[in-house]
Parts: sequence; C-alpha cells; structure tokens
Amino acid sequence: MNDIIIIGAGTAGLTAAIYGQRAGLSCKIFEKYAPGGQIVNSPSIENYPGMYGVSGYDYSMALFEQAQKLGASVEFAEVQSVDFSGKTKKVITTAGEFEAKAVIIANGAARRKIGCKGEEAFEGRGVSYCATCDGAFFRGKTVAVVGGGESAFEETEYLAEICDKVYLIHRRDIFIAAKTAVDSVLKKKNVTVLTNSVIDEIKGQNAVSSIVLKSRANGSTVEMPLSAVFVAIGLMPDNKAYEGVLKLDEYGYFDAGEDCRTEIEGVFVAGDTRKKALRQLVTAASDGAEAATAAANYIRKNF
Ligand code: NAP
Repeated sequence: MNDIIIIGAGTAGLTAAIYGQRAGLSCKIFEKYAPGGQIVNSPSIENYPGMYGVSGYDYSMALFEQAQKLGASVEFAEVQSVDFSGKTKKVITTAGEFEAKAVIIANGAARRKIGCKGEEAFEGRGVSYCATCDGAFFRGKTVAVVGGGESAFEETEYLAEICDKVYLIHRRDIFIAAKTAVDSVLKKKNVTVLTNSVIDEIKGQNAVSSIVLKSRANGSTVEMPLSAVFVAIGLMPDNKAYEGVLKLDEYGYFDAGEDCRTEIEGVFVAGDTRKKALRQLVTAASDGAEAATAAANYIRKNF
C-alpha cells in the first residue's frame, strides 16, 4: 500500500510529493494529462520567487523531475471515483484501484467556458483555450481573445506576434491583469481592445468565420469576421467525482481551510481546487507543503 496518493501533478501535487517523500513516505501521483497543470502553457513566469522569466514548461518539467528524483512515482491515469469510508483510502482510476494511508487531492481547476452559442460546436475548429497550443494555426489571420486577467493578456501578447490582428474582448472596462502586462499589450499596433463587450454567438460553417459581439452598455450587436476565438476567462473546479463525498462550496471548490484538512481524517486538499482568495503558483506550492506535512503527521499518529 502507498503511504500517500496524490491526485494531480500540478504545482500543489508535485510540491506535496516532494514534502511527502522527504518525510520518508511513499507518494504515488495520478495525473490525467501532463505534469505541470495550468502553468505549463505560460511563456514566462514573473511572480514566483526566484523564477523570473522561466517558461511554464521548463518550470513544470524541473518540478516534475525533482519529485521523481526524490522517489515519487507517477501514473498517468484518470481518477474515476474514491472510497474514503474506511481507514485505508481507495482511489479508483482508469489504471485500476489503488490504496493509501492518506490522500491529497490537488486536481487543480478546469478552463471556464463562455457558454455562448457556437462555443462548444466550434471547439477545436477555431475555438481554443490555449494560444501556445493552437495559435500557430492562425498565423496571419484575425483572431479574438476573451478575458481581462493575466491569461488573456498573455494570450494576446503571444498571438499579436503571429496573427495579423487581435481583438481583446473584455466584459468590463477594468482589467485584473498586472499593469505591466496591460501596458505592454496596449502598445501593440495590431491589438484592438474592446471593453464592455461580450460574445453573443460564434458563427461559421466548418470552422469559425465570425462572432456576434454585444455591447453591455446599450445591447447593440455587430458581426465581426475572424478566424479564431481564444477563451481565457479563468478557471472553474472539476470536482464532480467528489460530490457527496467531501464538502464543496457554492462554486464547487473544496470547502477546506488553509490547513488543507477536510472533514474526513486522512484526506487533504491542496491548490486551486480548494476554496481560497488567491490562486497562484506560490499559494499552490504552499498548500502542497501544508497538506503533505499534515498527511505525514496523520500517518505517524494513526498507522
Ligand atoms: P482570472 O484571473 O480569473 O480572470 C478571468 C477574467 O475573465 C476576468 O477578467 C473576468 O472578468 C473574465 N471572465 C470571467 N468569466 C467570464 C465570462 N463568463 N465571460 C467573459 N469574461 C469572463 O483568470 P486567468 O487570467 O485565467 O488567471 C487565473 C489565475 O492564474 C490567476 O490567479 C492569475 O493571476 C494566474 N495566472 C498567472 C500567470 C503568470 O503568473 N504568468 C499567467 C496566467 C494566469 P471580470 O474581471 O469582469 O471578473
């Protein structure tokens, strides 16, 4: 049996593995996609102490390697359900059923969707949630980015280098991205910022060919021809597998405090999946350390 099963190989999960292994415990990590989590697509990290200018990919790989060097094992499989009813915790995955003395859920959060007509129908055919993954398909074309946070500005900055024209569409006239990011984008000649606006519909035949933009000020609409819409409007939790097992808040995040403990002894939650005010690499890393230390104390007392 593993000492700790960690669900998710993002910053929180990998940090938990580092702390767990260094506490002398065997950690097994389950990851359904690739290590690194959301930051893997960031071209440059500027706000993690000691990591200025490092790409999200390089940072993720270094962290992944660090956890493995310390002895953590990784299984690329999706967690389908859990059974936390006994002292031994069971995690049922696409690679089989696994047991552990403690579990740390660090499954991050999923991309939020606009919810407008056409978004789902054109996903992968002009609707994208990752400019570094799909931007190259739209070289020399006109595209739109939706959002007003760090991600939207990073995506716009990136796309402005390869696309002919980029519209940055935001529902308010205040941005929550850092001023340095906003100033840099506003200087770009091929970027037009459209505030107080939302996409009402994404249209096309086989692929995206236009959007219907709606003004929030007066409700007027205008159809704009373009080839792609990059949605960068934040995250939402993906905790359906835990509904009825652990307490979730009104938005679906785990309702646990800074100590990362849940109402079930031996089960901890860490990172963006937990109810919290600030979702950053540094807070994810902090949660991972906190959860693994709490799990180690729990195991020492109970096994
Ligand atoms: P975010 O900070 O939550 O911002 C989401 C933006 O999308 C907000 O401007 C929000 O508008 C808008 N929005 C939300 N729902 C919308 C909807 N249904 N329709 C239209 N607009 C909508 O998300 P994020 O930019 O993805 O960043 C997530 C976290 O990762 C943040 O903590 C961020 O700091 C961090 N991050 C860090 C880096 C880095 O350090 N390099 C890079 C990317 C992200 P309102 O402003 O009106 O609410």
